[in-house]
Amino acid sequence: MRFCTYQLSGEPRLGIVAGQSVVDLRTLARRRRLPAVPETMVDLIAEVPLLELRALAREAEAWASARREVVPLSRARLLAPIPRPRKNIMCMGRNYTAHARETGNVPPEVPVFFTKPPTAVVGPEAPVRHHAVTQQLDYEVELVAVIGRRGSNIRPERALDYVFGYTVMNDVTARDLQERHAQWFKGKSLDTFAPLGPWIVHRSAIPDPQQLRLSMRVNGEVRQQSTTANMIFSVAQLIAVLSAGMTLEPGDLLATGTPEGVAKGMKPPKWLQPGDVMEAEVEGIGVLRNRVVAPQ
Ligand code: MN
Repeated sequence: MRFCTYQLSGEPRLGIVAGQSVVDLRTLARRRRLPAVPETMVDLIAEVPLLELRALAREAEAWASARREVVPLSRARLLAPIPRPRKNIMCMGRNYTAHARETGNVPPEVPVFFTKPPTAVVGPEAPVRHHAVTQQLDYEVELVAVIGRRGSNIRPERALDYVFGYTVMNDVTARDLQERHAQWFKGKSLDTFAPLGPWIVHRSAIPDPQQLRLSMRVNGEVRQQSTTANMIFSVAQLIAVLSAGMTLEPGDLLATGTPEGVAKGMKPPKWLQPGDVMEAEVEGIGVLRNRVVAPQ
């Protein structure tokens, strides 16, 4: 099951991606006399039981096969699956040994967390701005876990039950700002620095989040290529550590770190320039593509 947020007649709508089509959830529920569907992804995640989600997905498949009232995926204007998260995106730094080393660091013994604000989020195909304040713009492909249930003090062996699904983030970073300000927050948080999408794949389709290939291409050139098997701390471990004494809620986003191959690790670094096209891909989820544009 793939759930998206997309733009229809100027407003954000929820959809199910069925084959090469987007089926509008509100329309589908009305036509098939199913229970009304919430208006936002966070409400869908928080409120709709799994059985109802499965029924919607089945109907969407049938609807798409019959080519009724669907938008071809190629023409759908996808937004970030959660266009405005309710709180900062929680991120893990240095979660792959080779990436920690390429940036001159030792692999961490406990998870290193930072966050990115909701204002940084943009969707697939949205421009990423090369703000004038940085000369060292970098990319990072990451698997994102979308929290599905409220919980704290979650045990690692139960942690994946708290995941609704998975999506992709490009953790765009201004390396010079990241270093100048010591804390990572500023250099990770400029507007458009959190491309997210293209949709959320339900966890039922991803039985093991530690067996996914992930890659980043810049103008078609493969820069990052690894697997989530190389994470130092698994998704389950990260949820366990984060939720100790701190409540996680439906719709919370947890970005799980990036593998080696970032511009900062290259000699000389190939910083992103206006016009560059970034394609972040995670196996079983999809490709998140964004173009870098010049400062305003
Ligand atoms: Mn990152």
